[in-house]
Amino acid sequence: MTFHLPIAPPSVAHGFVGGKRSLGGGIEMPVFYPATGQQVSSLVEDDAASVDAAVKMARQAFDTGPWSRLSVAKRVDVLRRCQQTILDHADELARLECVATGLLLRELRQRHMARAAHNFGFFAEYISQSSGQRFDQTEGYMTTVTRDPVGVAALIAPWNAPVALASMKIASALAFGNTCVLKPSEQTPLALMRLVELLQDVLPEGVLNLVNGRGTVTGSALVEHPDVDLISFTGGTETGRSIMSAAGRNLVPCTMELGGKSANIITATADFERALDGALLGIFSNNGQQCLAGSRILVERSIHAEFCERFVERAAKLKVGDPTADETELGPLASLPHMNRVLDFANITKNEGGKLLTGGSRREDMGEGYFISPTAVCATSNSDTVAQEEIFGPFATILPFDSTQEAVAMANDTKFGLVAYVWSDHLPTVMEMTEGLRAGVLWVNTPMMRELRAPFGGYGDSGVGREGGASCEAFYTEEKTVTIPKTAPVLRKLGGLD
Ligand code: NAD
Repeated sequence: MTFHLPIAPPSVAHGFVGGKRSLGGGIEMPVFYPATGQQVSSLVEDDAASVDAAVKMARQAFDTGPWSRLSVAKRVDVLRRCQQTILDHADELARLECVATGLLLRELRQRHMARAAHNFGFFAEYISQSSGQRFDQTEGYMTTVTRDPVGVAALIAPWNAPVALASMKIASALAFGNTCVLKPSEQTPLALMRLVELLQDVLPEGVLNLVNGRGTVTGSALVEHPDVDLISFTGGTETGRSIMSAAGRNLVPCTMELGGKSANIITATADFERALDGALLGIFSNNGQQCLAGSRILVERSIHAEFCERFVERAAKLKVGDPTADETELGPLASLPHMNRVLDFANITKNEGGKLLTGGSRREDMGEGYFISPTAVCATSNSDTVAQEEIFGPFATILPFDSTQEAVAMANDTKFGLVAYVWSDHLPTVMEMTEGLRAGVLWVNTPMMRELRAPFGGYGDSGVGREGGASCEAFYTEEKTVTIPKTAPVLRKLGGLD
């Protein structure tokens, strides 16, 4: 089977420093189209010297302005123009994103690029309404608290939703007056490279820079750079640990948006059909590769058998195939090693005594593309590997529970704590669960509704810090307290006595 490329990508992906091509200096790496397994572009890695040039450019742009000193009204105007630029180029950006990720073109257009544009619009709105604080509590004195930009932000993005996730970081860092060096995943540089190129026409020189390459080379040179003032990272938990160590050594603040193994709790008091729809969306959307996937489906025992049967029936009917076709529901996984890793969990299930309900194998009829069948398994217990490890693919693990308390205990019995889903029309059950669940974001009777004003982030190994309106304001700014006497105060005279 042959799938056509959604767009002819540039032959080489490179970084941008001050609007010009970065030095590179490192190896060349292939970029593959996951639907065919063919190499379609290459990436030039930025070595430590190239990263240094990018950070110095961002430093200079921050220290000399104008961005960090721009009035809020002017910054709002620039952010709005960034938003419009993304809307104007949404189709091209979606196609480039599709080439490197294999994500569904329809979803990329309608959701990812719309969300990327909205991220800029949201922060334009947010900063136009925020103000400082003033205190007059001490007689004769006025104290104000204002927020300054922090400085040079290192923004590190994963491959599973590159533009949607990185745009949140770029928009929030810029909105509060910082300058940026962005590092996309080495697997998915194409759409972000084009986005950064487009935004050069809108932003002052050196405000948004881009470096490409592996985490161990380009990424570590960036996070260890002494001129970086803060780090915003989204990716795997182990990478997060290593980046946080670098942040600790340089004493810079960081946010970590990491992995998950989120519980999707379906009670007997739920609207069964809605819960079923939600469970399918929770695990199979974004080709199954999302941090907030409801990958551990906990089902009340009285409806467990019926749920498994209906879930498998629907999963097996998902249209797998061409990511550019409107009718496709599940595209390829992002890379060959990742596909093999996901498939390994089917063997692990069987070795641990679990039951493979559907899927678990490669779609050989799709040629060299990284397609697998939608997969669902029944684990023997919540301690099975498939109930504890993040698989990050179209792979659902289903387990039964007997009581509300047991469901909450099982949901919390994991090192992660990113999100949790609850399906029930019985208010006391909902209240008991939302109080007991230890996760950063809970969705009740709905899958994945993101409110940008609200904090997003995880407990435990799912992260440190939050993204969202006020959380981003706190992270991307330094608070400054200024105290001024209203009239000349009488001071104690030290050393003035004879
Ligand atoms: P990853 O950790 O392998 O890579 C993420 C980014 O970090 C890439 O750009 C990579 O090059 C870079 N990197 C790797 N090692 C580095 C180092 N030592 N120093 C600096 N940078 C380094 O993650 P991934 O495989 O790209 O993404 C999948 C993971 O991301 C999953 O675990 C998923 O749950 C997580 N994720 C979390 C969220 C969230 O909001 N919590 C969102 C999306 C993805």
